Amino acid sequence: MERVYNFSAGPAVLPVEVLQQAADEMLNYKGSGMSVMEMSHRSKTYQAIIDEAEADLRELLNIPSTYKVLFAQGGCSLQFASVPMNLMRNGVADYIVTGQWAKKAFQEAQKYGKANKIATSEDKTFSYIPDCSDLPISENADYVYICENNTIYGTKFKKLPNTKGKPLVSDVSSCFLSEPVDITKYGVMYGGVQKNVGPSGVQILIIREDLIGDGPALACTPTMMNWKIQTDNGSLYNTPPTYGIYICGLVFKWIKKLGGLSKMKEMNEAKAKILYDFLDSSKLFKGTVVKEDRSLMNVPFVIGNEEMEAKFIKEATAEGLISLKGHRTVGGMRASIYNAMPIEGVKKLVAFMKDFESKNSL
Ligand SMILES: *Cc1c(COP(=O)(O)O)cnc(C)c1O
Repeated sequence: MERVYNFSAGPAVLPVEVLQQAADEMLNYKGSGMSVMEMSHRSKTYQAIIDEAEADLRELLNIPSTYKVLFAQGGCSLQFASVPMNLMRNGVADYIVTGQWAKKAFQEAQKYGKANKIATSEDKTFSYIPDCSDLPISENADYVYICENNTIYGTKFKKLPNTKGKPLVSDVSSCFLSEPVDITKYGVMYGGVQKNVGPSGVQILIIREDLIGDGPALACTPTMMNWKIQTDNGSLYNTPPTYGIYICGLVFKWIKKLGGLSKMKEMNEAKAKILYDFLDSSKLFKGTVVKEDRSLMNVPFVIGNEEMEAKFIKEATAEGLISLKGHRTVGGMRASIYNAMPIEGVKKLVAFMKDFESKNSL
């Protein structure tokens, strides 16, 4: 069977080259006589895999030595609790709520301290990013929290908020490694890898060392969520998601080979432009996000007629354009065009949309 173009928001498309290499190495990884899946996480061979993954990630993102890299588990949703448990030393944090994931993180933080909602775009169904240049940052805030790319609503912070000196904690799940970033602007950058980097089950955290300190803010923090213990043990306190980390490592090498994050950005901009340009010219389809805040990764759009949208999704699926249904809370359509989506996939989608439009004027 031919591979489809998979526009799923996550778990999502992975590079064919990576899947092929994983297949080639499945039964006998580099002469070890076994699959990476079967290998002890305490073996030299596995240690080399996780060390190399970290080194490649550090190179790609230019991560300073003052930051720790952690491969964790429990879903990004577990980190919604880990963040306040580790960081709320004053018991206060400021949240900018620009979508479902930021909202969930904000709600979770309320269990552990005083979480303030200092800005939101909920008034217009999260279709824009609020002005964050001069927010009422709490004097004793331990951190300021954002979800940098809003997977469901398709908005992206093009400019980081002015945190007035407080550490920035950013959930980058759906924009991780999609473009160059300046890590030094972040206290903690973290995300689940199943959107843009690898299979589900792995979270990557990049944490400024001084924020880890001598241990979590809350003494009751579970060992598995304790950033001090986890980083001291090099992500190997217990059995990590070994195979998932291996695949992430292959994806890091794939990005390096293509030319790194500036190249990734160039490719992502070219792909997104094709789709947004069409949406801007279409009489049938309409983008839902204000232009200046549009995500390069997740592109929601609507027809505004449920019957017609259902027809579109059904016919697109038959053409091998898969998972275009919008999030269950928003409706409409959404094309997630992550790093691994080939430009041919976006071109085929737009050609299909043009054809659909010509046959189905409302
Ligand atoms: C998908 C997603 C999450 C949730 O990830 P889980 O691993 O399913 O908990 C959190 N934040 C963002 C931005 C996401 O896209």
